[in-house]
Amino acid sequence: MSVKKLGFGLMRLPAVDEADKSKVDVERVCHLADRFLAEGFTYFDTAACYHSGNSEQAFREAVAKRYPREAYTITDKLSLFMLKEASEMPGFFEKQLENCGVEYFDYYLLHSLDEGAAKQAEEWGAFDFMLEKKAKGLVKHVGFSFHDKAEVLDKILTRHPEMEYVQLQLNYADWEDSEVQSRKCYEVCVKYGKPVLVMEPIKGGMLANVPAEAEALLKGARPEMSVASWAIRFAASQENVFMVLSGMSDEQQVEDNLSYMKDFAPLSDEEKDLVAKSAAIIKSKEKVPCTGCRYCTDGCPMKIAIPDYFKLLNRISMFGEGQLASVKSIYKDRTEKEGHGKASDCVGCRQCEEHCPQHLPITEYLEEAAKTFE
Ligand code: SF4
Ligand code: SF4
Repeated sequence: MSVKKLGFGLMRLPAVDEADKSKVDVERVCHLADRFLAEGFTYFDTAACYHSGNSEQAFREAVAKRYPREAYTITDKLSLFMLKEASEMPGFFEKQLENCGVEYFDYYLLHSLDEGAAKQAEEWGAFDFMLEKKAKGLVKHVGFSFHDKAEVLDKILTRHPEMEYVQLQLNYADWEDSEVQSRKCYEVCVKYGKPVLVMEPIKGGMLANVPAEAEALLKGARPEMSVASWAIRFAASQENVFMVLSGMSDEQQVEDNLSYMKDFAPLSDEEKDLVAKSAAIIKSKEKVPCTGCRYCTDGCPMKIAIPDYFKLLNRISMFGEGQLASVKSIYKDRTEKEGHGKASDCVGCRQCEEHCPQHLPITEYLEEAAKTFE
């Protein structure tokens, strides 16, 4: 294998002060990056909004200023959601180069495309903007990160054959998930011959804390390997995966990742079977069998984000009470920042239940969501 398949995600970095997490502990990032590079890895991934807007600068201090340009590759992203209009794109890009302390990006991705964001990118000329930067040598490769259904991905790749890479949410628990559609999205990339960059291989840390039965299964087979390692190796074992990103915010994570990725061995058939069993155990803990089709939401007079709240209930049933704090914070964002009705705002009209193809007792689950999150 010519390129090592582990990338250093710079989304959540060690902080100087636990009370104010926005300030990056640059000295520690230097140490983590040194270990990573010393083992022959080269790929770093940042974005303007990562780590409260301080990730690019941390990369500059820890890597760009301390290593020759050929020692590393850096990916940054065109985050249109941070801009008000298309005319801000050139200034945004220039600032990113400056923040990262580089003269070009190895990879530059349109950030977080879904159907609506792709449309906006087209209207703003963002795809052409990226190609223009590539033609000038300011960007070596272009692509996009993606969060939507496989059919949307298929449409984008039909319209934009010039995109070279796709960054996907790919993990074994969501491989067959009807909403995330990891497998289907991966297969679309294979169909178009686009190498895949994997984000969230451990599902935001969740696959490091699987239910006890799944943990017993994985630990029973390979006691020396961490539970998280199975998720990263699953992603890296997919043939068309070019790079697997792992957010590394402490020494233990870095050393663990390096231990099995420096001489990476794809999962054997037996190991694939264990991962499939672990996924089945996780799925069996799902409380609400909601497919995320959203047929229930249009007619809701209280604008309740029904499937989003069910997903949060499932997160707790599948990955345990340790998820409660982050789930509550997501719930707060949905209800306060994004203006959705709270679960307790439900007036019991049951329009949603009439439209649910799964015939779920939505109002009962909402009562539970209200008790859990409010
Ligand atoms: S029953 Fe509740 S959730 Fe369902 S449509 Fe009516 S108000 Fe919305
Ligand atoms: S209609 Fe039913 S299955 Fe579809 S999102 Fe709503 S609750 Fe989930």
